[in-house]
Amino acid sequence: MTAKVLSGREVAAVVRGEVAERVAALADDGKTVGLATVLVGDDPASKIYVRNKHKAAERAGMLSFDYTLPADASQEQVESLIEQLNRDDQIDGMIVQLPLPGHLDGSRAVLAIDPAKDADGLHPYNLGLLVLDEPGPQPATPSGIMRILSYYEIATSGKSAVVVGRSFLVGRPIAMMLAKKGVDATVTQAHSRTPELGSLLATADIVVVAAGRPGLVNAGDVKPGAVVIDVGTNRTDDGLVGDVDFAAVAEVAGAITPVPGGVGPMTIASLLANTVAAAERSHMREG
Ligand code: NAD
Repeated sequence: MTAKVLSGREVAAVVRGEVAERVAALADDGKTVGLATVLVGDDPASKIYVRNKHKAAERAGMLSFDYTLPADASQEQVESLIEQLNRDDQIDGMIVQLPLPGHLDGSRAVLAIDPAKDADGLHPYNLGLLVLDEPGPQPATPSGIMRILSYYEIATSGKSAVVVGRSFLVGRPIAMMLAKKGVDATVTQAHSRTPELGSLLATADIVVVAAGRPGLVNAGDVKPGAVVIDVGTNRTDDGLVGDVDFAAVAEVAGAITPVPGGVGPMTIASLLANTVAAAERSHMREG
């Protein structure tokens, strides 16, 4: 293998350590930090994600509040719970675990969150701040990717980046973050209708793949020495795999994130960072 493996596990531990220090500093000043999760139904994968978020929050010294509604909860029930959490002073950040059951509107639920308590950084107000390059909670997975790049001192300025995927959760925000002033990559956004993805990828110094398609990116697609960030999380018979053929691409790339242990751990770490930042802002307003 020629590629350096970019360990999200390692970077996430650093971020969680920083968060724990900030939580402790607030505690010294009499301010607790609280993260609430809203889960609707009993989807097994969502339950695991939520449980991991609570564990990580508690390890960082935060209070964690677990709200679960039945799978047949109404949109009004979900939104009135969110409004109750908006008013709760003990809660600094909250997430609504997506996707919601099919009869519910996840976008409307996210819209009900007070943007100041939006730990996932997915409220349209906060996505607007991202577009304007103003500070605010940023989408957790993309900001985790940016932290991996900065931790490993990967140069972005003047580099060409191809982002595969255009979801509001990952693809669009990471494309925006890579192109912003100070980061200065030249970004092309690819998606399911992009023709000849392989020849486009071959031009990229940095590849971010967030498509949810195992085996989408192979060794022949990647420029030698490129940095490859694999966001894909696909449960297969072989276990959890990304969108990139890791073993083969690692022979060509200069650096690559593994799955698991790459981008995945960064998402929770970023969510905690958004929550402690929200607590600091609220403490400053009060104090
Ligand atoms: P999504 O389904 O909302 O979006 C997928 C995107 O990929 C779409 O924009 C689509 O146009 C594009 N796409 C699909 N097939 C393609 C193809 N053949 N060629 C080019 N583009 C293609 O998914 P999402 O929410 O953005 O998530 C993407 C993947 O990342 C999933 O595997 C998801 O599980 C994973 N994910 C991981 C984390 C994490 O913490 N590691 C967080 C969020 C998402």
